[in-house]
Amino acid sequence: MSTTAHSASAPEHNVTGIDYAQRGHFRYQGPPLLDIHSHVTLTQPTDPSSPDPEASLAQAATMLEVATEFQVGRICTMCPPEHIPALRERFGQRLGFNGSITKQTIDTPDDEAYRLLDRFLAEGIEIVKFWAAPRGRDRGLLVDAPWRMVAAQRAIAAGIRLFMVHVGDPDAWFRTVYTDSAKYGTKPDQYPGLIRMLEAFPEANWIGAHMGGDVEHPDHLEALLERFPNFYLDTSATKWQVREVSARGEAVRSLICRYPARFLFGSDLVTRHGLPRQHYVSRYWCQRTLWESDWQGRSPIADADYIAEPGGPSTPLLGGIDLPIEVLEMVYHSNAERLLAAR
Ligand SMILES: [Zn+2]
Repeated sequence: MSTTAHSASAPEHNVTGIDYAQRGHFRYQGPPLLDIHSHVTLTQPTDPSSPDPEASLAQAATMLEVATEFQVGRICTMCPPEHIPALRERFGQRLGFNGSITKQTIDTPDDEAYRLLDRFLAEGIEIVKFWAAPRGRDRGLLVDAPWRMVAAQRAIAAGIRLFMVHVGDPDAWFRTVYTDSAKYGTKPDQYPGLIRMLEAFPEANWIGAHMGGDVEHPDHLEALLERFPNFYLDTSATKWQVREVSARGEAVRSLICRYPARFLFGSDLVTRHGLPRQHYVSRYWCQRTLWESDWQGRSPIADADYIAEPGGPSTPLLGGIDLPIEVLEMVYHSNAERLLAAR
């Protein structure tokens, strides 16, 4: 990926030296935000996905404290099924769980994916996730793979009514990492599978993670929202949204204001061993600044996908789109509450 020009000493969560205590521009004071897209897990020094007696809740506790500072209440997390009991015991109703149905290799038998679904269902997940980024094609992780169709049927039979999908990735990556289109497909190639799922399962609601993976093309998102009343978008992946929403703030603001019931607040924060508290602060600060203020400045977060002008700032513009309060209330709170209750 591209290089960044920020100095080696500046932390990724604050390359501009901003004071994150500056929060006077936050206007929203309604019911608590619900973060529909996060990865709160137990963490440990080496492999965060293997159960280990030394796995720690400390990072999760730090992230949830920071979330509280930013008026974020309930948080839906994707974590391995074996992490759920410890997280639930410590944090109770504060967390909801989203089970990611995936395969580790192309040769993983379908039954293993179904057993994973059964484990998640037994743990009381509220959402099922199908991760289908282009870089997962090697492992057969297409959103509409036959085993995912079966998993969706089984999840619906078990009462699940909410799915989240990751299709697409930043346009910037199709210019840099996904240049082999025979292997990864083009960006438009990522969407027929999603459309197949939306058509096959109209009784469920579907959230396109990271603004449906195509915030670069609000007209495309609008066409999907118009055609599929069961399709929603989450605002997660902070660097990506800051860079691309700010670049076309009017168009994105107009889209959200015309479909206010179809957008959900999400951070895509991931707990990791050793992360400083300010990492979590940076993402929630930028998300709220982007949606609810008219703040203008350089993004404080390092962004490897931003191509700086020669001699120019190393990070992209963060231009808040200042959504109306009644729209924010829906995006931050009530849309997610409604979808999670529809079971
Ligand atoms: Zn995510």
